[in-house]
Amino acid sequence: MAHQIMGQKELKEQVQDAGLCTGCGACINLCPYQVFYHDRTIVLNPCDIKAGRCYAFCPRTPVDLQALHAHFFQESDLTPEIGPVKAFFIVRAADAEQRKQAQHGGTVSALMSLALQEGMIDTAIVAENQERFLHAGVAVQQPMEIWERGKSKFIVSPTVAEFNRAARSDAERIGVVATPCQAFALAKMRLKPELSSGDNPIDKLKLVIGLFCGFTLSWAKLLDLLHKKTGLDAITGMDVPPGKDVLEIYTEEGVLVFPMEDVQACIREACRYCIDTTAEYADLSVGSARLSGNWEESRSWNQVIVRTDVGMALMALARNSGTLEFHDVPTGNLEMLKKAAWEKKRTALKNLVEKSGSADDLIYLDARDRLLADLKY
Ligand SMILES: Cc1cc2nc3c(=O)[nH]c(=O)nc-3n(C[C@H](O)[C@H](O)[C@H](O)COP(=O)(O)OP(=O)(O)OC[C@H]3O[C@@H](n4cnc5c(N)ncnc54)[C@H](O)[C@@H]3O)c2cc1C
Ligand code: SF4
Ligand code: SF4
Repeated sequence: MAHQIMGQKELKEQVQDAGLCTGCGACINLCPYQVFYHDRTIVLNPCDIKAGRCYAFCPRTPVDLQALHAHFFQESDLTPEIGPVKAFFIVRAADAEQRKQAQHGGTVSALMSLALQEGMIDTAIVAENQERFLHAGVAVQQPMEIWERGKSKFIVSPTVAEFNRAARSDAERIGVVATPCQAFALAKMRLKPELSSGDNPIDKLKLVIGLFCGFTLSWAKLLDLLHKKTGLDAITGMDVPPGKDVLEIYTEEGVLVFPMEDVQACIREACRYCIDTTAEYADLSVGSARLSGNWEESRSWNQVIVRTDVGMALMALARNSGTLEFHDVPTGNLEMLKKAAWEKKRTALKNLVEKSGSADDLIYLDARDRLLADLKY
């Protein structure tokens, strides 16, 4: 696999038309030629630039994982399953009223709000539910605006497109809430800042809060699944409670429950080839907690992996200011998470080999990469 720089044509052939596009938005708002429509990337006009930023920043074009790790992380923090780990916590937002606006413990919204309040960032990019359960990234400056956009959206939000726009605005210090593929795209931008014209807008990126992510759903296939059971605008949220093997869809009229075997067909194809569960390229990453009690108790807490000094500094601020409540970490929690993340990596590599037809061709990954060596697929 050659690590060449290519352009829009190759991006379309190798990623968008090949079912690898995650919908991260990294190739949008760099030029006028590509847009996001519904949950898809659309090429409006062909572009013949040979070294396109769109291709270089896409999380599904070839990359040297070891170079990324060496650039961002301390070797001693690295784990093969979940990337770098400086610290691991079970926490939630201290304010119970605010937690009601969040997916789980409200840790993501609380930390992003705190980063704004403390001046660590002046602009936060979060995902907003727009019409017909389609989502987009939006840049906000007030903590309240972050809380208003809480909860997980299981259809992609092309959040990095909004980063590309905001980075060329008056914003100076930007924080982004990102899924693993979005955090990966932002890391690729940081690795190749020379591709940006003029001042490097990527220098404005000061904080990435990652979300754990199992999959997103195709918007069109979700419509088929719902099949007149509810209107899209009536959906107030969704979740996949651990151990139940179902997708719960919350609506104004009640909860709809779909077995995961029916939901499988709705999963975005690109997610089948994704090796990252925990947003390894974020400053800190947040998912739902797994406490020994029932899900009703667990769902109001989060697991947090802290990966960088920036992440450590924000968690220290959160503790000292009383923004977050801390829970003891149950024995075996981190190991359970590592096991699940490892399984996703193995499955993704198996699917990539199936797609390419050769164990030596992992499409966007390099089969010789030392970081993938222990994964048997
Ligand atoms: C598609 C998806 C799949 C997930 N899969 C898992 C999983 O398998 N296991 C697990 O433990 N956790 C998973 N999560 C994370 C989990 O759902 C919660 O987001 C996490 O526990 C944080 O909870 P919170 O209460 O702190 O979040 P909140 O305080 O509610 O904040 C959530 C933040 O995420 C942003 N956001 C929501 N959806 C998206 C999106 N699609 N793209 C970018 N930003 C978004 C919101 O704007 C908000 O800022 C997933 C999240 C998403 C979006
Ligand atoms: S994965 Fe992201 S950068 Fe790559 S084509 Fe899709 S939206 Fe663009
Ligand atoms: S599973 Fe992977 S590719 Fe799919 S949305 Fe999540 S991070 Fe992106």
